[in-house]
Amino acid sequence: RQAIVEENWFSFYSDRLEKGKIGQLTLLSNLRKAIREGELILNYQPKVCTTTMAVTGVEALVRWKHPERGMIPPNDFIPLAEQTGLIKPLTYKVLAIAMQQAAQWKKSKTTVRIAVNISPNCLRDTNFSQRLTEMSEQFNIQLNYFDLEITETALMENPEEFREILVNLSKVGMNVFIDDFGTGYSSLAYLAKLPIHALKLDRSFIIQMDDTKHELIVANTITLAHSLGIKVVAEGVETENSVNHLKQRGCDEIQGYIYSKPLAADDFLQWHRLFQDSFSA
Ligand code: C2E
Ligand code: MG
Ligand code: MG
Ligand code: MG
Repeated sequence: RQAIVEENWFSFYSDRLEKGKIGQLTLLSNLRKAIREGELILNYQPKVCTTTMAVTGVEALVRWKHPERGMIPPNDFIPLAEQTGLIKPLTYKVLAIAMQQAAQWKKSKTTVRIAVNISPNCLRDTNFSQRLTEMSEQFNIQLNYFDLEITETALMENPEEFREILVNLSKVGMNVFIDDFGTGYSSLAYLAKLPIHALKLDRSFIIQMDDTKHELIVANTITLAHSLGIKVVAEGVETENSVNHLKQRGCDEIQGYIYSKPLAADDFLQWHRLFQDSFSA
């Protein structure tokens, strides 16, 4: 039955795709196969606490290991998946890989929180919470090891609609992060009403922080978030200079190439050990 549902989605949406975009259609049918046949892999990028230098968690970032085309970055296929309904099976696949990974890391005595990017269409899935619970039982790993990242634009499209589901997910210990914060418009009232754990300041702000006005925006965003009990993570941090500015302004966590690029699971473990050792030595 599931297959029939997906098939209908596929033909419905492929009709709507612009004619002549054969490349996209091929990509689309290949993606369906890729999800089924295990061509999706996750890389993990650490988030580091600015005061303790502890690794607070990782963000899981999907890549498509295409047999002919090599590694395809998410920006080349996530938008297509979003348009076609494939985003649901894709997200459940990503969650399954993340849960398997967390269970394996737990066995090797490394506990790391894993944040997964969730598109609004998945949150809207009436079975979302239940699917998560079932999966966590299947992979034998508690849901409180996982966090959710939702973009500001997606969340603020209809915050009222997502409130209840986010409240329920945070009750089981999943932290909610607002991704790409500063690129959309947030209603301040909703920041107070929704169970938000942290804002992720978009990279576009970070790279402009040398400019006084931008630094003031960042500083005031951090102050505002903190006054609402919300933490702030800076994403896309590449320079020591940005780290210093962000620390001065009280930013809680930093994610970016300055510490590490997104890494394959085994490479992350190795990076994690070296990183810890460099601060305990
Ligand atoms: P995002 O969630 O905002 O993820 C951060 C992106 O910034 C990642 O790109 C990451 O590799 C990149 N990045 C991190 N640090 C730095 C840095 O210091 N400098 C620069 N220049 N870039 C940095 P990536 O992995 O290509 O992912 C792009 C976007 O694709 C993500 O943006 C997210 O919106 C989406 N995405 C990735 N994985 C998933 C997924 O599993 N599900 C969904 N729905 N979307 C995903
Ligand atoms: Mg993200
Ligand atoms: Mg982001
Ligand atoms: Mg981004």
